[in-house]
Amino acid sequence: MNPQIPPEPLVLVVDDDVMTRILVTEALEPEGFRIEEADGGLEAIEFFQRGSPDLILLDVTMPGMSGFECCERLRRLPGGAHVPIVVLTGNDDDASIKEALEAGASDFIAKPMQWRLLAHRLRYLLRSSSALAELSRIRDSLGHAQALARLGNWEYRLSTGTGYWSPQLSRILGQTPEAGPATFDRLLLCVPEDQRPQVLDAFMGLHAGTGSYALEHRVRHGDGSERHVFHQAEAVHEAGRLVLLRGTLQDITERKQQELRIEYLANHDALTGLPNRNLLNDRLSQIIARARRTGLHLATLVLDLDRFKFVNDSYGHPIGDALLQAVADRLKMAVREGDTVARLGGDEFVILLTDLADTQTAEDVVQKVLSMFVDPFLLGEHTLHMSTSIGVSEFPADGDSGEILLKTADAALYSAKDKGRNCYQFYNHKMGALMEERADIEHALHQAMARGELELHYQPKVDLNSGKIYGMEALLRWRRPGIGQVPPDRFIPLAEETGLIVPIGDWVLRTACAQLGAWHASGFSHLTMAVNVSVRQFRQISMPDLVREVLADSGVPAQCLELELTESLLMQNQELVVRDLNQLKEIGVTLSLDDFGTGYSSLSYLKQFPIDVVKIDQSFIRDVTDSVDGASLTKSIIAMAKSLNMSTVAEGVETEGQLGFLNTNRCDAIQGYYFSRPLAQSEIGELLQAGTRLPSDSCHGEPQQRVLLLVDDEDNILSALQRVLRRDGYRILSTTKPQEALELMAIHPVGVIVSDARMRDMAGTELLRRVKGLHPETVRIMLSGYTELNSVTEAINEGAVYKFITKPWNDEILREHIRESFRRYEAGAQRSEPGPAQASDAAAIDGAV
Ligand code: C2E
Ligand code: MG
Ligand code: MG
Repeated sequence: MNPQIPPEPLVLVVDDDVMTRILVTEALEPEGFRIEEADGGLEAIEFFQRGSPDLILLDVTMPGMSGFECCERLRRLPGGAHVPIVVLTGNDDDASIKEALEAGASDFIAKPMQWRLLAHRLRYLLRSSSALAELSRIRDSLGHAQALARLGNWEYRLSTGTGYWSPQLSRILGQTPEAGPATFDRLLLCVPEDQRPQVLDAFMGLHAGTGSYALEHRVRHGDGSERHVFHQAEAVHEAGRLVLLRGTLQDITERKQQELRIEYLANHDALTGLPNRNLLNDRLSQIIARARRTGLHLATLVLDLDRFKFVNDSYGHPIGDALLQAVADRLKMAVREGDTVARLGGDEFVILLTDLADTQTAEDVVQKVLSMFVDPFLLGEHTLHMSTSIGVSEFPADGDSGEILLKTADAALYSAKDKGRNCYQFYNHKMGALMEERADIEHALHQAMARGELELHYQPKVDLNSGKIYGMEALLRWRRPGIGQVPPDRFIPLAEETGLIVPIGDWVLRTACAQLGAWHASGFSHLTMAVNVSVRQFRQISMPDLVREVLADSGVPAQCLELELTESLLMQNQELVVRDLNQLKEIGVTLSLDDFGTGYSSLSYLKQFPIDVVKIDQSFIRDVTDSVDGASLTKSIIAMAKSLNMSTVAEGVETEGQLGFLNTNRCDAIQGYYFSRPLAQSEIGELLQAGTRLPSDSCHGEPQQRVLLLVDDEDNILSALQRVLRRDGYRILSTTKPQEALELMAIHPVGVIVSDARMRDMAGTELLRRVKGLHPETVRIMLSGYTELNSVTEAINEGAVYKFITKPWNDEILREHIRESFRRYEAGAQRSEPGPAQASDAAAIDGAV
């Protein structure tokens, strides 16, 4: 920006001599100046405050206030610092000139004046003063800008050996501007010793002609605090000669701190503060390099907490997090200073042991780590007993890179877990082959579904009352090209681990329901379909939503779908599981517990879950004919399940002997090679068409003895009841007339009678009262609307009615009550005691009440 003088500069002439004032006016006005006059110092000051002149011509010798004093006072006024003040002195009056300049005058003109030159002289003065004002403005704003940018600059002029520091530079260095000369030596003294050589080198380089440098270093203040600076400098040449060195320092402490924080976060686990995978990998490569140099061993330990998911699911995530922090603290205590404890995520930790003399030392540390878990963890009000499994790999034997060491330690961990937790395993080569196979299967499994390599086989389930097939279990098969059929045990655990079981399970459910729909359509409408469901599916998606959707898509009635659950599911977060299971029950599907007896749950633990069927694991069935234990365990499972109103299915029945045992002990149904292996869909079709069933002497032996009598004066109610109960294999008698009912009972061994409450010819209560007298062993059920509850209370109290079921009934509850009533009838018959419906029997009202 060019310094500009104002268009018509205003000049204030201060002189007590009127003549001088007139002469000045006459000399300047024609040259484009505006003139104001003051005849003394006070008047001048007054005018200055009002009129802001561009220049002041001031006589030094005036009565009252002298020109010197007036000049000094003007300089102190706001805006007075920069206005050019020219004093009028006598010729050769050196003392006055000196005094005027000391008082702040910008220039002087000696009297008598050269009038011709006056205008030129003033114009020149105005121009240079405006340039000075501009310069000071620029310097000011540079100072502000430097302060804002936390940037200071320095210069060192070689010709004079002098230097300059901007005020901001002093501030950055923690110095006052007056503290000393602006030399490079002083700057160097502000750099902490460890970095001085680096800064000095750069500076010397500049001297020697490197042109420029840029580096980051710290500076230390007098109080010991430190700042980070970015330091740039360059050499300036003129005519080939080095004349000037100059540089800037920017205070980047805050940015640096943020960078350090970001770096910390990128390298540490937020929950425990331990190094994360990033930093672990860094450290691994460093210590591998060191181990190569020193020839010492190093060991990589991969740890996984046993049953951590159980803690998270049962106590909630805050306790899970607190546990991980506590584990991190204990692990740090188990190792030496130079070792690394890292967390890779979840409950997986890694420990790097460096500078080990031999394998034994690693083993000692592993033992120490295990011992850290002996004491329980006290978290709030919870006392948790935890254990860990550890896989160990060693450098160089088990891998020569961090990646391979972690992989081999992982394989060893996998094998430790397999061995049964709370233990450790050192890697050996056999584990490697296993891991490779796993990786191979995992890769192929990813594509199996898309390529149509998965299919379902179906295994019939046979009802032991009727000997007939009542349903199927869908079992997954993987036809792997080039390898053949892979059994589910080989790939389902892996699919569960990787989460692939979720899409696979979805496919299984849809395919099985679609197949069941097809069988229903071809006339086998009584069939049910059981589908195995994994815990992971419950955890990852809403099973009730999926089941609703699949039922709607396939058109299969809910009561024909059975979900086979595992005991491990019931050990999960109970509230969530119970909620999902209850929702599934509301939808109407049957819930069964697979492989019962292999887990830890007792039957009484199962009471809190809405389980309908218990499938007794094949390991028990295998033993029933030749081991007392197997036989008595199986017997008691059947008896206890009955007492909890659950039905029983025996799995893996292979021999006639096993079947006989199950018949005698009144297991409800069987599944196993004895009747049929799992078969492809087309083979099942043939089996169904052929009407294949167990011969009646292989059943409970008295299928016809389960005779059910239905009495209702409305035909449509009778047929609705028959429809519901048909598939339970009863011999069903029915009549609309109470009198005829009594006749039928005389001819047939009726086990259970279900009677309407209100009938034209005879009230239900009356009919059941008579039945009680004539056939006390027959179990009597009353079917009626809520409104008639009062009228039957008496009959209930007399014991004439064993159960009371409300209309409209729930099919499943009705079926279960009738099944249960038959069991009661049969138990009574076995004891050959008087019939079950004694007066002392408390009447039960169905589940809807
Ligand atoms: P599971 O649900 O207990 O199924 C019964 C297993 O016993 C089946 O093995 C069946 O072929 C076998 N089996 C049936 N009768 C006999 C017999 O008389 N003797 C012997 N020794 N074995 C018999 P499979 O098909 O190999 O299935 C194994 C397990 O894989 C199943 O056990 C089930 O837990 C799981 N699984 C199968 N399909 C699926 C599925 O679609 N989803 C899930 N999550 N798991 C499945
Ligand atoms: Mg199953
Ligand atoms: Mg099973």
